[in-house]
Amino acid sequence: MRSPIIQVRDLTRVYHSGSAEVHAVSSITLDLYPGEMTAVVGRSGSGKTTFLNLISGLDQPTSGEVIFDGEPLHSMGETQRLRLRQQKIGFVFQSFGLLPLLTAAENVGVPLRMRQLGAAERDARVTEALSWVGLLDRARHRPYELSGGEQQRVAIARALAVRPQVILADEPTGQLDSSTGRRILDLLRRLVGEAGITVVVVTHDPQTMDEADVIHELRDGELIDTRYKSARRSVAPLN
Ligand code: ADP
Ligand code: MG
Repeated sequence: MRSPIIQVRDLTRVYHSGSAEVHAVSSITLDLYPGEMTAVVGRSGSGKTTFLNLISGLDQPTSGEVIFDGEPLHSMGETQRLRLRQQKIGFVFQSFGLLPLLTAAENVGVPLRMRQLGAAERDARVTEALSWVGLLDRARHRPYELSGGEQQRVAIARALAVRPQVILADEPTGQLDSSTGRRILDLLRRLVGEAGITVVVVTHDPQTMDEADVIHELRDGELIDTRYKSARRSVAPLN
């Protein structure tokens, strides 16, 4: 039986704005398994982004636990969490987050520079990642010379270049038309199948759900439903 890559236990994040308390994430317990595509769905404001921030250690829970690949994120210091993020996690955002003055190849290389990889290793990984998303011929283009879908593929290549165990994508198709969005989802799907990466996609887009192995639905910060693709998982679901 496989063990989970991320274990989430009774996870809660309360924000205080003025005198009001917002339970952005409320008592969520679930496991994320390696080599699966997980969708976290729910309306705007249901806590999806907060959840991603918590499981990647960008934000700290008010209470509860996140165990990432056996390591307790919730009790790590800032530096340790940063290192874990850099080594194990790739991020893909709705707004792509590319630097406008850099070429596609340079953008993909940014997280590799942050990890202080040498130039030869960087070049090899950039080439590998860009060819993986089918954009080697656009390596020298700047973001404004690329379509929205191409920009998102560059962002996926940038996440992939660090060879992460987990890719976290926050509404990655939110700025794309539905057929372009479909291609991005196919690409994320292939990452799971061919590269063995765990992909967590946050979305309120119904077509993302068709691609996922597991769908966790949030409402008002609570996990209200978990659905599995039929006959895929031998492990019994939680609850
Ligand atoms: P989603 O990504 O599903 O749209 P979020 O996780 O961004 O939802 O937000 C969940 C809830 O927490 C919302 O009510 C939002 O207004 C609130 N929230 C998010 N971030 C903060 C913050 N930094 N300070 C106060 N409230 C926040
Ligand atoms: Mg969000």
